[in-house]
Amino acid sequence: MQPRRHRPEFDPHRHRSALAPLVDALARAGELDERALDRLTKRHPKPGGGLFSKSEIIAGYRAFGGPIAEREFAGRLRLRPVRTLSGVTPVTVLTRPFPCPGACIFCPSDVRMPKSYLADEPGAQRAEDNRFDPYLQTWNRLAAYRAMGHPVEKVELIVLGGTWSAHPEPYQVWFALRCFEAMNDFGSGVDGRAQAGAAPADYRGLPAIDGRGERLYNDVVRRVALSHVAETAEWSALAAAQQSNERALVRCVGLSFETRPDHVSEAEVLRLRRLGATKIQLGIQSLSDAVLRANRRGHDVDASRSALRRLRAAGLKLHVHWMPNLLGATPETDAADFERLFTDPDFRPDELKVYPCLLVESAQLVQAWERDEWRPYPDDVLLRLLEHCLERTPRYCRLTRVVRDFSSHDIVAGTRVANFREVAQRSLASRGEACVEIRAREIRGTRFEREALDLRTTRYATSLAEERFLEFTTREDRLVAFLRLSLPRERSFVGELARAAVIREVHVYGESLPLRERGGARAQHSGLGRALVEEAARQAAAAGHARLAVISAVGTRVYYRALGFEDGQLYQARPL
Ligand code: SF4
Repeated sequence: MQPRRHRPEFDPHRHRSALAPLVDALARAGELDERALDRLTKRHPKPGGGLFSKSEIIAGYRAFGGPIAEREFAGRLRLRPVRTLSGVTPVTVLTRPFPCPGACIFCPSDVRMPKSYLADEPGAQRAEDNRFDPYLQTWNRLAAYRAMGHPVEKVELIVLGGTWSAHPEPYQVWFALRCFEAMNDFGSGVDGRAQAGAAPADYRGLPAIDGRGERLYNDVVRRVALSHVAETAEWSALAAAQQSNERALVRCVGLSFETRPDHVSEAEVLRLRRLGATKIQLGIQSLSDAVLRANRRGHDVDASRSALRRLRAAGLKLHVHWMPNLLGATPETDAADFERLFTDPDFRPDELKVYPCLLVESAQLVQAWERDEWRPYPDDVLLRLLEHCLERTPRYCRLTRVVRDFSSHDIVAGTRVANFREVAQRSLASRGEACVEIRAREIRGTRFEREALDLRTTRYATSLAEERFLEFTTREDRLVAFLRLSLPRERSFVGELARAAVIREVHVYGESLPLRERGGARAQHSGLGRALVEEAARQAAAAGHARLAVISAVGTRVYYRALGFEDGQLYQARPL
């Protein structure tokens, strides 16, 4: 395979004669509606034909400057910061195709992709274009965000792909290192892409998998995957890159990996934390041993319980994946299964993806479908089940996704309704029912009065701790900021956390603002994070804890030092 070339970058200076007057006209035009913007763009076409795209106009602004700030200029172009509204800028990167210890019959087997991903999924395509190189993926995603006028100073890095914990440790360290290096370089204007991904493997030439056949994903990708001997790095190099990131212009304020329950040992939890993890995506899929067995999941419910306990004992945020409509489940058993997610103290996740099983050609489930042993729920049945899920998700949990984002031509059987969440939410609203889960209540870009916010605490028990969910809400119960405080009842296996209360997450909503820019009446930087931390300290002390620890991301260490927290090995803590 020929290494792919980067698309030549747009050079605004080559188009100066046409672009500079357009930038100037836009900067002086005041508020524009879509039509006026259109007219103005057409008045200044590209020499040689066509119109300047919004990202090219932004590039022009950056090259030539203007009388207004960049954020205001980007706003005129209607470059709404939708993706950055939850407070940070998400950057998703995929690991390369690699054998997965699971053999789940519902799981897609696209050999061009890490297990469970399809090449048509948006993030997956970007990863393939970047040859699964972590540096290229991170750097290019930051560049794309920046070109569209999004701030990139606070990044939540989301590492996806199969089972992270199955990768050899040197690859894990290298992958994390290259992501941090890309953030550090991008912030300081360094472009190290030419040196990245020197020896890309050719996954695209591998034979495709048909779920009806004998050929398995692991056997096909193993040979190519194991040839990557160069992808290795030392822990000391990672620690140095993390330290640089503490004060970099692009900081990592959250880092998640996805893995399987039966790979979450205590040693693995500590390794994840050392890599910089603050959150783990964990596929538990079902709370029924019979369903897990029928789908050849390879672990039981007890393994999920143990994994969640270990992750919780280390203060990590828990992002659980759960799948209704698996082989052997019914709408009734799924409804009961979902309720157990929040009534059983071993579960009670912080975030949740609900992925109704969708059949794709490369999944072995196709055999059960052809034997008439499995059928997708009809849309009306699925709608009722998803309404049930939405209604029962408590206010401390964020329902991040409902229905997997497969393109409809990949779906052999299953719903093709991509916006099922909105449909279910609208249906609930029409019956006067409200969802209280986090995503439905996020304030997003709405302005609010700081003085009118309520501070509310929700307490709930998990098998290890009393959890307190502290939140600032408006009178209309819109969520402006929250903090997750864990008050453990038993000693953690993580020595550093012994007898400490633990802040597991602080999140202030509102448009992600550059670190130096003040938010006024918007949520970020209006002191809400600090107020929540002080309230957590007060509540932890009142509950008898002598120390308050925080599972800080690398890029938030400076912030917590300013609040009196001192560095430990994997956490920061302050006495109470
Ligand atoms: S563990 Fe996850 S990625 Fe691996 S086969 Fe099962 S569902 Fe797919």
